[in-house]
Amino acid sequence: MTPKMLLSATAFVALTLSGNAIVAQEGSEATALSSPKYGTWGFDVTGMDLSVKPGDDFFRYANGKWAERTEIPSDRTGYGNFTRLAELSENRLHAILEDAAAGKISDPDASKVAAAYASFMDEARADQLDAKPIERELAEIRGVTTKDQMTAVMGKSNTSGFVSILPVYISIDAKAPTKYTVMAATGGLGLPDRDYYLQPAFATQKAKYQEYVARLLGMIGWETPAESARAIVDFETRLAQDTWTRAERRDRDKTYNPMTVAELNTATPGFDWNRYLAQGELPKVQRIVVTTNTSFPKFARIYTETPLDTLKAWQAFHVADGAAPYLSKRFVDASFEFRNKTLGGQPEQRPRWKRAVTFVDRTIGESAGRIYVARYFPPEAKAKMDALVADIQTALKARIQRLDWMGADTRARALEKLSKFTVKIGYPTKWRDYGRLTLSKGDLYGNVTRAAAYEWHRDVARLNDPVDKTEWGMTPQTVNAYYMSTNNEIVFPAAILQPPFFDPDADPAINYGGIGGVIGHEISHGFDDQGRKSDGEGALREWWTADDAAKFTAQAARLGAQYSAFEPLPGAHVNGDLTMGENIGDMGGISLGLDAYHASLKGGPAPVIEGLTGDQRVFLGWAQVWREKIRDETLRQRLVSDPHSPARFRVNGVIRNVDAWYSAFQVQPGDALYVAPADRVRIW
Ligand SMILES: [Zn+2]
Repeated sequence: MTPKMLLSATAFVALTLSGNAIVAQEGSEATALSSPKYGTWGFDVTGMDLSVKPGDDFFRYANGKWAERTEIPSDRTGYGNFTRLAELSENRLHAILEDAAAGKISDPDASKVAAAYASFMDEARADQLDAKPIERELAEIRGVTTKDQMTAVMGKSNTSGFVSILPVYISIDAKAPTKYTVMAATGGLGLPDRDYYLQPAFATQKAKYQEYVARLLGMIGWETPAESARAIVDFETRLAQDTWTRAERRDRDKTYNPMTVAELNTATPGFDWNRYLAQGELPKVQRIVVTTNTSFPKFARIYTETPLDTLKAWQAFHVADGAAPYLSKRFVDASFEFRNKTLGGQPEQRPRWKRAVTFVDRTIGESAGRIYVARYFPPEAKAKMDALVADIQTALKARIQRLDWMGADTRARALEKLSKFTVKIGYPTKWRDYGRLTLSKGDLYGNVTRAAAYEWHRDVARLNDPVDKTEWGMTPQTVNAYYMSTNNEIVFPAAILQPPFFDPDADPAINYGGIGGVIGHEISHGFDDQGRKSDGEGALREWWTADDAAKFTAQAARLGAQYSAFEPLPGAHVNGDLTMGENIGDMGGISLGLDAYHASLKGGPAPVIEGLTGDQRVFLGWAQVWREKIRDETLRQRLVSDPHSPARFRVNGVIRNVDAWYSAFQVQPGDALYVAPADRVRIW
């Protein structure tokens, strides 16, 4: 089990996939602020491949030489400009944690932060304990003699290492966003996506998964590991068949299905919700918003048809799998071999201190963040961001006002929604209270489960309170950003407000293409295929006329078709439906960054730098933030599981729909990325 993120992962859309951390060193701490970090004006021209025509492959044109000279570090699954900044955050947090360990930090939570760090760093103790930390949970599974008892065990999944086929969680109510609600979804799979069970392209990974399941079962002394592993994978394959696709799970209308507990009991014979919820400390809950509702009866049926011994072995495997990164070396290695190496293509394990940083970030991340902000976030960065966000909002307002396909009614409401965005920059105004979380130096796995329980108890305790709108879903040290529809808010953690996204010493065109594009991306999420379904207050409700909604959907479908044609690996295409929201976000990002840049010139001409025009530099700024190399195994995994398109298409897929790109780089019919004007997708 991984400690819970600050907010349920389904609740917001992030700029990029997070949590995939860090490597190597760079001397960036010492860089003087008098000159830009990248190149002489904020862009690394030495990374361009001028032998490539921009119209054939703009991503390579902008980043090709960098890609040639860059090797992905052996403890990473990819490398690029997001990663470089993540490394910076990682190194800074490492310094903070070492100082906390040495008693040099005065923050009220410094000793808790130090305890979390020390517990992870104590490898000798983890080795000595071996599988002991999960013995109690395994014993509880062994003691199960009925399906009802197994249901009760699954009911504890939010406060323990147990897993559930129908996990519940607490989130903001999409239709009443001032309130929290209990939600339920399907779960139970150990592979990254249902496709891994069902598609022949993943047959090798599936076979290796079965070996891994058997290996872990053997390590915890479970009976007949090989046979049990086969039964477990068969069970999960049945669940996978009845699991909605990720693209289907994005649909905010179809995934909002309030049900009473009585209705749930009727829908899932053999799965007793009263018993289940009581174990999750939710005995009084009567209404649950069910996401993938049509799967529930099918899951219940599979549950009743699966032998109890298989379910027990399945539960035991998942406890061991979730705990493995926090146990002795043989567990850590087994988990790494399968999850990182086989599934991700990562050759080497990350050093322990780096994993410790990630652990602290996930366990008591806001307190570490408070220390981070005090040390590393210059207050003037916030003021500059305020101005940039205002520029981008102004640009979108102008675009909405002149859209030719949208009627007056929808337009008025779109403008109203835009006027109601909340903007959060840098760090929370109110820090998380970790008072009830106990972290102990000598109890790593205990820290993991207590951190999960802390999050859950906090959610349960405030279930009937008004929503805390000051809360953040990412820590300040995270290199990412997000839009959250239920709060109608865009959020930019401190760590992304640095070069190459944002560099006060860079040419403004680079900042408008970089952080301007990021801001535009997040704002556009409020108007993407799912974000557009909620209003300025964050409530999921229809505010579009049927005619305008149909026009939007038709344009979006054309964009989806463009992306689905991309084939990053032989036989593996981008999923235009899964990536729809992010692609619309990216389209808005570059378009709004460009508009805001133009507005910033106040009618004057853009300067030419090294022969590059202002527009050219905005596009290059956008391409530079997506500069990335990625391992094939990870790319394949992301194509089925990540709602973001691969970096290359976050550049090439977007710019080919923007008229200004054609004129900026003299792109002509016959160039590989050329799209005829009538076929270009224009949404916002
Ligand atoms: Zn996004």
